Amino acid sequence: RFDVSAPWLTRVIERRPRQWLQAVDGVSFEIERGRTLALVGESGCGKSTVARVLVGLYAPSAGQVLFDGRDAHAVYASADALALRRRVQMIFQDPYASLNPRWRVGDIVGEPLREHGLAPDAAAREGRVAELLQSVGLAAADGAKFPHQFSGGQRQRVSIARALATAPEFLVCDEPTSALDVSVQAQVLNLMKDLQRERGLTYLFISHNLAVVRHVSDEVGVMYLGRLVERAPTRRLFAMPRHPYTRMLLDAIPSLAAPGRARTPVQGDVPNPLQPPSGCGFHPRCPLANARCRAERPVLRAVDEGGVVACHAVEEGRG
Ligand code: SF4
Ligand code: MG
Repeated sequence: RFDVSAPWLTRVIERRPRQWLQAVDGVSFEIERGRTLALVGESGCGKSTVARVLVGLYAPSAGQVLFDGRDAHAVYASADALALRRRVQMIFQDPYASLNPRWRVGDIVGEPLREHGLAPDAAAREGRVAELLQSVGLAAADGAKFPHQFSGGQRQRVSIARALATAPEFLVCDEPTSALDVSVQAQVLNLMKDLQRERGLTYLFISHNLAVVRHVSDEVGVMYLGRLVERAPTRRLFAMPRHPYTRMLLDAIPSLAAPGRARTPVQGDVPNPLQPPSGCGFHPRCPLANARCRAERPVLRAVDEGGVVACHAVEEGRG
């Protein structure tokens, strides 16, 4: 059993200029080996912070991340850090910004091999790089080119090849296809699914786009203002969204809106996370909000079919 779990990953504090922001609060989840958990929500909800905590770029101010039962941040701070980093890799949103424009693609993909001492010499490294490029649908000869000679989708394939270089088990993917055209997105998502099947990879897949998430994830967590407001198996979440925010996100997707009902754009804006609303953080935008919602913060409760929801209306049977 793979235990990339973050039980009680509370109060991860993200340093912002001049202010401290509680970016993530009480987010808790587990991901089973070989499965995909998607985290969704509008920008600023704390998804990327969770990603950065999982790969060790930020340390949580409270709570812990367990990887195979071991406290990941204790390992990241120890002499075993490199061994853990080999097993946990990250794919970033922007394949333009995350690839060094002055490096040949072969050197970019081969760098983790060098860093982790995974190829004894240049010839071995070259051979591994060729295999990695081919495994993501590029040609071995592409290693001699520079990033600017590739399209956005090809660059994201290069990022994936680089992430696979250390033969990781867990990949944290932060909006991996958001910068790409829709048709290219589908190709990259299919590649990621194939690689998962072939290599038994485990994914945390972060996206603001529920339509994308539907095709790649086994389970979905919906975040709002740094908190998890609903988590459920993907099929259940799309068939029967429970949290009013999840419903608002789903209603905004044309192909997923209930038949006969027009698509409803997402209403309102995310509040300033430095001044979160009282009670339920979603109450200023929620059609079901009442006095209790404005006063009391709802906690996650188990609902049907393995899901959890934080909403007074759902708990009271009026949602
Ligand atoms: Fe809406 Fe109240 Fe549920 Fe929050 S707790 S989502 S305000 S009904
Ligand atoms: Mg982000």
